[in-house]
Amino acid sequence: MVAPPNLREMIARLIATPSISSVNPAEDQSNRAVIDMLAEWLAALGFQIDIQDIPGMPDKANLIATLGRGEGGLVLAGHTDTVPYDEDRWQSDPFRLSERDDKLFGLGTSDMKSFMALIVEAVRDLRAKDLVQPLVVLATADEESGMMGAQALVDANRYLGRHAVIGEPTGLTPIRMHKGVMMESIRVIGRSGHSSDPSLGLNALEGMSLVLNALQAWREQLQQRYRNDQFKIPVLTLNFGRICGGDNPNRICPEVELQIDIRPLPGMSLLELRDELANCVRVALREQPWQVELKPLFPGVEPMETAADAWLVQAAERLTGVSAEAAAFGTEGPFLQRLGSDVVVLGPGDIAQAHQPDEFIRLDRLRPTVSLLQNMIREFCVSPAAPEQLS
Ligand SMILES: [Zn+2]
Repeated sequence: MVAPPNLREMIARLIATPSISSVNPAEDQSNRAVIDMLAEWLAALGFQIDIQDIPGMPDKANLIATLGRGEGGLVLAGHTDTVPYDEDRWQSDPFRLSERDDKLFGLGTSDMKSFMALIVEAVRDLRAKDLVQPLVVLATADEESGMMGAQALVDANRYLGRHAVIGEPTGLTPIRMHKGVMMESIRVIGRSGHSSDPSLGLNALEGMSLVLNALQAWREQLQQRYRNDQFKIPVLTLNFGRICGGDNPNRICPEVELQIDIRPLPGMSLLELRDELANCVRVALREQPWQVELKPLFPGVEPMETAADAWLVQAAERLTGVSAEAAAFGTEGPFLQRLGSDVVVLGPGDIAQAHQPDEFIRLDRLRPTVSLLQNMIREFCVSPAAPEQLS
């Protein structure tokens, strides 16, 4: 077995291994080479390796690498895929790590392959016999498109550990809550006919106008019902993103589809919101016999919240010297929560660089992240003592 190369070389090799996720099948790539690379490095350091296939996605996999045993412990988690890139807008090859202005450039440097290399660097000298509680390194597939890697863990009910740190780009600020995301399609179906006689058809656009009004009223209700001032936008948002229907001015419009995006606050569940949405649409159209079809455009991401007084949040704040905040972006956190982990999102990249041309990570974030991860491992795996036991 080959020991992992130095930190810079690990980041370079991960960046040089394409693993793009895309809902467009022509752009979508396997993440298997990244998983195998991490598995080889961690196996050389004594980790037990488990590669989990993703049902329905033959060329994608998750890695669960474990050192030590027990029920508590710490999970260090990240995704192995990147978003697609826009070649013309990059100053350097996105797959070749390059240094300029004290920064390392490459696709996935910030979001979030560097973090995976930093984990390996942080555990290089760790031995299973040093651990009272297990350390788990989780590397997932498909975070950037459908979160099917995280979903596969939930479907397999794969408990990982009591505390989880997801190294998404937060500029080393601990994040303990974020909004959810859901994107839904609402289709109103009527009947076409000649425009000169409305009784010949049933106009779907007129039905949709009732739906639009009802959704605005529902949004207002929800915004009054829930508020969380930790968020920059302290209420749920509901955006009318796309509408499509009809063909000719002289034909009664037979069908319209509306697509909306909803970003719920912690405390609101996607299932309940979907029920309320369906009810709102049904009530709006109850007078006339339009048909309605509602469907999610993707499974959605639940909102996430970890209690401010959770050990993990307290430790993250103490070890970074920064108070935990709320983020505007979704993560795999809710999936790990469902599996029984407390979750904090905390990583060395910056969200402003994620999903952008010339993505970079600052060099001065690397060593502090290694120390932070080592301190976290010490706190939760080497000599764990929950705050209430300290006193
Ligand atoms: Zn990410």
